[in-house]
Amino acid sequence: MEVTINGSELSLVHGDITLAETEAIGNAANSRLAGGGGVDGAIHRAGGPSIMAQCRKIGGCATGKAVLTGGGALKAKYVIHGVGPVYHGGTRGEAELLKSVYAESLAIASGKGIKSISFPSISTGVYGYPIEEAARIALRTVIDFLKKDEVLELVRFVLFFHKDLMVYEDALKEVLG
Ligand code: ADP
Repeated sequence: MEVTINGSELSLVHGDITLAETEAIGNAANSRLAGGGGVDGAIHRAGGPSIMAQCRKIGGCATGKAVLTGGGALKAKYVIHGVGPVYHGGTRGEAELLKSVYAESLAIASGKGIKSISFPSISTGVYGYPIEEAARIALRTVIDFLKKDEVLELVRFVLFFHKDLMVYEDALKEVLG
C-alpha cells in the first residue's frame, strides 16, 4: 500500500529490512547500542562488524533518540539506530517516546540529505508495544514530518510478518481518515 504525502511516497510492504534498497534503514536498537535479537541482530549480521564498531564508538543512545552509522555490507548506505521505549502499560510516556524515535530518525535522515528510508516496526517485538497503537503513532509521525520536509522522497515501513502489514494498512487508513 502506498500514499503520497506532500509529493513524497509513504509505503507499507511485507519483507526483511536487511534487504531494503532505500538509502537508509532504521533499526530498533537498545540504549547501549549493543546489538541483540530481533531486527537489531539481523541488521548487524547482514551488515557485518563495521556497524558495531561505529556503535561502540558512539557508546549509547537515550530512549526516544537515534544515531547514524554507515550501512556496512548492507545495500543501504546508512543505518539510523533508534531506541524505542519498552512498553509498561502506556503510563511511562511510551507514546511520546515512540513518536520521538521516529521524528528523531527522520530529522537525522533529512539533515544528512537522505532521500529514502525504510523502518521496521520499532518497539513492537521484544519491547512489547501493542502494534495497533504503535502503527498509528509511527504513521502519524511520518505523515506530520513529510508535510513539512522537502528532502525525503520515500519513507517505507518493512513489516516482517504479513499480519503486521495488515495492521499497518488498517492504521494508515484510519490515520488518513
Ligand atoms: P523491539 O525491541 O524494538 O521491540 P524487535 O527487533 O524485537 O524490536 O522487533 C521490532 C520489529 O521488528 C518486530 O515487529 C519484528 O517482527 C520485526 N523484525 C524482526 N526482524 C526483522 C527484519 N529482518 N526485517 C524487518 N522487521 C523485522
